[in-house]
Parts: sequence; structure tokens; C-alpha cells
Amino acid sequence: MAYAITRTCCNDASCVSVCPVNCIHPTPDEPAFGHTDMLYVDPAACIDCGACADACPVDAIFPVDRLMGPDALYGELNRAYYRDHPTDHAWDAPVFPRSLPTGFAGPGGGSLRVAIVGTGPSASYTAQALLHSTGAELTMIDRLPVAGGLLRYGVAPDHQSTKRIADSFASVFHDPRLRVHLNVEVGTDLTHAELAAHHHAVVYAVGAAADRRLDVPGEDLPGSVPATTFVRWYNAEPTVPADAVDLTGGAVDLAGGAQLAGAERAVVIGNGNVAVDIARILLTDPDRLAATDIADHALAALRRSRIREVVMVARRGPGHAAWTTPEFLALTQLPGVDVVVDDRPVVRADLEAAAADPTATGTAALLAGLPLERVDGTRPPRPGRRIVLRFHATPVELLGAGRVEAVRLAGPDAAGADLTGLDPTAADPAETDPAGAGEELLHAGLVVRSIGHRGIPVPGLPFDEVTATVPHRGGRVLDPATGRPLPGAYLVGWAKRGSSGGIGANRACAAETVDALLDDAVAGVLRAPAGTRKEFDRLVRDRRPDALGLRQLRAIDRAERARGEATGRPRVKLPTVPALLAAAARR
Ligand code: NAP
Repeated sequence: MAYAITRTCCNDASCVSVCPVNCIHPTPDEPAFGHTDMLYVDPAACIDCGACADACPVDAIFPVDRLMGPDALYGELNRAYYRDHPTDHAWDAPVFPRSLPTGFAGPGGGSLRVAIVGTGPSASYTAQALLHSTGAELTMIDRLPVAGGLLRYGVAPDHQSTKRIADSFASVFHDPRLRVHLNVEVGTDLTHAELAAHHHAVVYAVGAAADRRLDVPGEDLPGSVPATTFVRWYNAEPTVPADAVDLTGGAVDLAGGAQLAGAERAVVIGNGNVAVDIARILLTDPDRLAATDIADHALAALRRSRIREVVMVARRGPGHAAWTTPEFLALTQLPGVDVVVDDRPVVRADLEAAAADPTATGTAALLAGLPLERVDGTRPPRPGRRIVLRFHATPVELLGAGRVEAVRLAGPDAAGADLTGLDPTAADPAETDPAGAGEELLHAGLVVRSIGHRGIPVPGLPFDEVTATVPHRGGRVLDPATGRPLPGAYLVGWAKRGSSGGIGANRACAAETVDALLDDAVAGVLRAPAGTRKEFDRLVRDRRPDALGLRQLRAIDRAERARGEATGRPRVKLPTVPALLAAAARR
């Protein structure tokens, strides 16, 4: 019986290199790699050896006959990929990771010394590649008192299997060649010049920490939060306070004392995987979340939450959703939650076109079979919990007296005049199209803006304000004045690619950056560090006496796991910097 890859596929391709018959595609060398939602096993070529399942860092691969429940359809999904993308599984020439020549000494003698700014997935894959293939000494730095980046503070708490990638990084954090300085911010506590003066190379794995702006009136009303805040809030990121999100939806109109129509409705703007995560967390039974490492304050707020309906608003049509198939399918399988498509003429036309095309494989095809229902956003939601998919609607304003109460949407289907088919008790057209110009109101007590992330400048490095990225070529930071690489400065992860791709996409990304760094080392491009490793450690201690190292990181880990053990949870995260520092100080 063949194996199949399932929903939690992280795309890091650890399975590809161990397959003895090359039956897992796309491989990192194929053009489709990074463009498919997941990797797939060809059941016709699989020899059932199970090597891929052993290598998978997130436990996503199983024999087809053992797939059950929501995973049952992945046997067919794997098979369908090869029907649409026939491949002969021929081997390409082998590709070996770069390494350094035996006896290689960095400029100035001694081992190559590399600083990595960040401790998230892209930083960890970079460290892993450098430690595996060279004798380099590494320094990892993070502004937070705990390591993990998006693996700890981005991945949704109900995706514990994705968090298992951390196990594959454990060897990195136990390697004697690694030093870690946590609670230290580059740009504030240390400069790029100081890092460069103590290392041959500095790799920035700082992600894309800010949110994109909608740039519409009312965007910053209380009750309207960016996805970055919402996700950090439910993940107990210590810079986001426990009261950063209010799920009571401003239940009562402060002026009139009446219950607001949108008190039980949340709007999530955007149609990517982060929007899917947020919609799912908002409507999942809190008792299920209680078994995860969700922030205690978020769990308490979700237990009190009045939100029953989440409307996901997309500015384009059903064929252009940014979510991936596995994440969307999981949303439709959420126990006790219905998923409906807001029934509009343009949406109906899109869906009919997808249904008429038997070869259609896009996101529109995934909506086939979902109920279509015209949703009146000016009225309280119907009983029950549900997710409404609203397409072709662009938010043009957020409105409310003191806090958000509604979103004004525009789009071809938002014309309030188009009320054909609505029951006679439906809203007054003047209310659904207050501007009378193809706009309508969607009442909501919470609006989460999930429209992607934006990089923030790294002091000491060039920055392109338009693209919100550091200019680079293949991971080498470029000097915009000359167009040439800045010696010893590199990028990896979202800081390099922009905010696209899940955790596993960072493995190939890190390999490319490490290859560039090692090529530069061999070519003699890197400069000898002026300061020693000890001098750097002293500098960090001088600047941040409260910096933490690996010993303290382990103390935090132990404390959190111990807090979780009593209640059967993987861990209970410490949600503030003082709490983390106190746990770090405990022996
Ligand atoms: P994303 O995938 O880029 O999606 C952004 C969404 O925002 C798109 O639907 C986009 O619509 C919409 N949008 C952008 N600007 C807008 C505007 N001005 N008005 C209205 N809508 C706007 O971003 P993301 O969801 O933050 O995810 C980032 C990356 O992380 C993705 O690669 C994602 O797959 C990955 N991720 C993966 C997982 C997972 O695997 N489980 C979980 C979370 C995140 P248009 O398409 O029309 O621009």
C-alpha cells in the first residue's frame, strides 16, 4: 500500500531526499517547488518503504489505508497530482550541499564565525545547514527572551504537528558551537557594524514583522486589529498585552444601549492562510483549544466570546484565494461550524464557470458543494456557528462610534440595489447600500486585517521602502549605490523573500543563502573579524545585563512544560517578559 502526504505537509522536502525511487514531487530542483500547496507521493511508484514517513519532521505521511477521518481524502489528492502532472521519476544529477574545504580557516585564522539575527525557522534552517556542512561557530540573537520566532509565535496553537519541526532543530540548540543571546535587539542594543566586527558574516533572519495597511478611513478604530497582533495575542507573544483583543464585540451600542447587529460577527479581511487560521481559532470549540499551548488569556477570552459568525472578505473572486488546499479543507471540516459562500451574481458565475470546466483545479473548484446563501450583514447572524466566504468585496471604510461597528464594502456584487431574491423581511436597500453606489455595510464587532506582512528596516542595512525589503541577490545584501553585494551581509526567510511560504519553504531558502555565504568564504570575500568571540560576549553583557543564553532558555522551556503537565497541555506559555525572565532565573 502506497504512502500519502497529508494536511500538515510543511514543504521542507526532508522526505524527498530519502525516497529511494524519487516518487515525491515537486522536488526542490523542479520549477513547481514552492508553488504547490504541498508535496505529493506518486502511489504508482511508491514502494511502501516508509522512509519518507520516518524523515517527515511534522508526521504528515501515512500509508493510504491508514488515512482516516479528515485525512481520508489525501490518498486521492496525492494520486490526482500525478494525474495532472505526469512524471517519470527520473533522477537528476545529484546535488550536494556546499561545504568548506578540509582545514579551511576563515580570514584571520580559526573557524568561520557567523552571526544569525533571529531564532525562527529560517534562522534555524540556516544554523542547521552551517553546522551540518562546516565547522563554523555560530551566534544566534533574538530580541525576545525566548527562541522560536514564528514557530512559537506564528503557527496556530491547534497546529501542534507543525510545531514538531522544532524537534528537528533540537540538535542545533544543543551544538557546542552555538551561542545564543536572547533579549538582545540588533539596531538598539547592538549595531550591524558591531556584529560585523566580531563575525565573518551576519545573516539576517528577521522576518516581516509589520502588517500591511488597508489605508482606509477608520482602520485604527478600537476593535480593528492587524493579523500580526491577533496571532501574537493568541500565541502569548510577550510584547502583545492580554487585553489587545476584545471578543465581546462592543456588544452594546454605548450611545443607544441597544445590542449592535454585529456584536456576534467578526470580519477577517484577506483570504490567505493567516486569515484561515484566525477564522478557525475564532470558531473552534474552546475545549479543543484548551489541549494546546494557546495563551491562557486568549483561551479565557474565547470562552467568553460572543462571536458566532466570521465573514472572510476577499477583494477578488473564488478562483484567486490565497489559502492553500489543505488549510481550506481543514476549515470546512471544523466540527460544529458551517461554511457558506455569500451568494452574489458574480460569485455564482465564477463558481458555475469552475464547475463547467472538468479540468478546473483552482481554489474555485474547492468551493463546489458548499451552500450558497445571500448573507445580510446588517442583521445579527443566524443561529449556529459559521464561516461566510464573501468574494469580490473591497473594504473602503471602517465605521463606528468609539469602536468598530461595521465595514463598508464596495465591489460589483455589493450593489444594494441588487436585492433580487431576498425575502421581504430583508434589510432596507438604503441600509445595505448607504452610499447608493455599489456599497454595502457589514456590521461586525471585531475586524481583523489579514492582508499580509511588511518588512521593517534593519538599522545599518539598505531598505527599499516601496517593496519593504532589503535589496538582495540570492541572499547577498546589495549596496543600492553600487548594485554590488555588501561583504558579509546576508538574508534568509521572509526578510529575503517577502512574506510568502510556510515554515518548510525556509529550508531551500536557507540552503541558497548558505551556499552564497560559503562561496564567498572560499572566494576570500569575507573580512576577518577584528574582535574575538569572548569580546563579543562581553559586549553583549555590557549592553544587556539581562540577556539570556541557552541555559536560561532551557529553564524557560522546563517551566512552561511543567505548567502544562498538570492540565495535559504541551506547555503553558509565559506571556510577559518579566515572567519569562523570572523563569529563566530559576535553577
Ligand atoms: P497572503 O497569503 O499573502 O494573503 C494575503 C491576502 O490579503 C490575500 O487574500 C490578498 O488578496 C489580501 N489582500 C492584500 N492586500 C489587500 C487589500 N489592500 N485589501 C484587501 N485584501 C488584500 O498572506 P498571509 O495570509 O499573511 O500568509 C503569508 C504566508 O504565510 C503565505 O505564504 C501563507 O501560505 C503562509 N502561511 C502558511 C500557513 C500554513 O501553511 N498553515 C499558515 C499561515 C501562513 P489578493 O490575492 O487579492 O492580493
